Amino acid sequence: MSASRGAGPATVIDGVAAAREVHARLRARVAALAGSNVRPGLAAIMVGDNPASKIYLRNKVRACDETGVRSEVHGLPADAPASAVLATLESLNRDAQVHGILLQLPLPPHLDAERIMQNLAPEKDVDGLTWASLGALVTGRAAYEPCTPAGVIALLERAGVVLDGRDAVVVGRSAIVGKPMALMLMARGATVTICHSRTRDLADHTRRADVLVAAVGRARLITGDMVKPGAAVIDVGINRLPDGKLAGDVDFEAVRKVAGWVTPVPGGVGPMTVAMAIVNTVRAAERSVELRPA
Ligand code: NAD
Repeated sequence: MSASRGAGPATVIDGVAAAREVHARLRARVAALAGSNVRPGLAAIMVGDNPASKIYLRNKVRACDETGVRSEVHGLPADAPASAVLATLESLNRDAQVHGILLQLPLPPHLDAERIMQNLAPEKDVDGLTWASLGALVTGRAAYEPCTPAGVIALLERAGVVLDGRDAVVVGRSAIVGKPMALMLMARGATVTICHSRTRDLADHTRRADVLVAAVGRARLITGDMVKPGAAVIDVGINRLPDGKLAGDVDFEAVRKVAGWVTPVPGGVGPMTVAMAIVNTVRAAERSVELRPA
């Protein structure tokens, strides 16, 4: 299959079905680990009670349940000092039953999330967001790729979208999505352009993309006329509209008429982001077995 194909209507990439397939494959790996007396364990730290974070966390716990991974959530009050978060993190670093640790973002503003995160043991950084993991990603040696861009790559691969030699445009340059996304597309042979808030003519770039990834946080920023006919359009954005509904960064109805593939919001990248955190946790548990003294 080619990267771009005839103009729409686009194939809608089903992230829920894709995540379900990933979970099914993980169940087999979890069962195999039971033979070595290891049950993968994922621990999440949540500070405060941000409603969106609660939903994301609930989805992660549910995915753990579906795959046989043990999960534990460590909730701290919204005014917890950095020392309390660090103490929780360090006890989880030492806990042999815990193979992956997630620090649920955002943290309350009095906490320096980026700094706190660096105390996570690298072998348990299943979100792939510490400086050590992101640095390793630059050289193509990351043990754990960040979950959201990893989910995007998995969706593109499953849909049969070719990346090698194609033009990819990533809109957004954050350290958790845009930048690692660009590196991962580049590592797979795409020629990558990163656009951001200072880009002069966004549409001029997006119209050249065989693969377009939107990770901005602005509802329906990407309109139908900004998309190359037949392109694969992946919508990472999650925006709450005034009526309470969720919308992505892509004008789904207009873009699906033009694109070759498009992801919906909700039901696209979100479920695969969760699935990738579980993949990385199971991988961490497998590594713990491989590294056991004989
Ligand atoms: P961020 O706010 O850190 O970064 C947004 C980026 O968009 C910035 O780099 C900025 O330069 C760029 N930008 C802002 N306005 C722009 C414009 N008009 N034109 C072009 N670029 C512009 O956000 P983030 O953490 O990268 O998240 C982006 C979106 O993805 C948010 O909606 C977030 O909720 C969502 N998200 C979804 C998942 C998921 O699992 N689906 C995971 C992480 C983030």
